[in-house]
Amino acid sequence: MLDIDEAAKRLKLGGIVAIPTETVYGLAADATKLLAIQEIFTIKKRPLDNPLIVHIGSLEQLGEISKRLMELELSIIKKLWPGPLTLLLPRRTTVLDAVTAGLETVAVRMPNHRLCLDLLQKTGPLVAPSANLSGTPSPTKKEHVLSDFGEDFPVLDGGICSIGLESTVLSCRPSYFMTTEGNKLNYPYKASHNNMIIYRPGAISAEQLSEFGSVKYYTSNQIEQDATSSSKNIPSPGLKYRHYAPKAKIVWLSNIEQLKGTQLNSIVLLLDNLIPDIKDFLEQSTDHGFHLVYCEGTWERFGQLLYDTFRIADLENYTHIFVQDIRRHPFSNDLKEALINRIEKAISGH
Ligand code: AMP
Ligand code: MG
Repeated sequence: MLDIDEAAKRLKLGGIVAIPTETVYGLAADATKLLAIQEIFTIKKRPLDNPLIVHIGSLEQLGEISKRLMELELSIIKKLWPGPLTLLLPRRTTVLDAVTAGLETVAVRMPNHRLCLDLLQKTGPLVAPSANLSGTPSPTKKEHVLSDFGEDFPVLDGGICSIGLESTVLSCRPSYFMTTEGNKLNYPYKASHNNMIIYRPGAISAEQLSEFGSVKYYTSNQIEQDATSSSKNIPSPGLKYRHYAPKAKIVWLSNIEQLKGTQLNSIVLLLDNLIPDIKDFLEQSTDHGFHLVYCEGTWERFGQLLYDTFRIADLENYTHIFVQDIRRHPFSNDLKEALINRIEKAISGH
């Protein structure tokens, strides 16, 4: 396994290393090295028009990537970075087209992970899409990366990701702020309203962001509309690709009868013990083929284990994945929207 100095050295020489963050493991390359970036697309089998997030270790490094931040962006950065929040910002012209897929914006994030931040201090900005093959769930521990890319793949081991879901992707410059001059898009430096759009829900919730202004989600209706428009203009291109869906059928679990009625050989992901009698039933039934993943009422644990559960189900050929129906959970939590989003995407494959 690599240590941090070896990882930094490889990256500076144009190599690729899988790195830990608090969200998921990333497949990292120096953000200024075109060949390394192209190799990332090749080994991940990622479509070339799906841009990469640039990870930075300090605000000085942000200056190398973007400029002219709006006040709204600055306040958000001050409060929520380092953290699981990616901002879409105007790119400097020096940022490679391969990183942004030719867009005028660049996605930037400062991860909240000590080892990763130390690495970034040594290397400078790194691009790091999730360290999985396109079509498998994002990796939340070293073993997931090795399972996709082989036992000898260089990984900087930072343990299990504390969040386990990809970052929130946010724009403070939704298109209705934009003015056009000729073909060029211009962003006013100061928007008169603090409007934000979430392109991908994550651990930083709409509720947390609402402290800064009004927040909307980019909805699946909007995605369809934009994808069929003449310009095929999807503001966050990753959204148009099919999402990972496990081989097993995912079922929202809300009562014990659903389990009694189905064939066994299922994996069951439970947040807590709120479904009457469920835990006792499952513990008595493990001999009969139920594999129970119990999160002891902790949403964070549920997030950490979601993709791991999907991977186990695929690997061990479970026929069903029962996931506690958190859509109807009586308590709110900052992770709830993101978790529902990922589970629904895995159900539908979109
Ligand atoms: P991943 O690194 O696999 O978590 O994916 C990164 C996500 O960020 C994808 O959904 C991309 O479409 C999105 N993204 C990256 N850069 C941009 C950008 N400049 N504008 C809009 N979305 C972006
Ligand atoms: Mg990904």
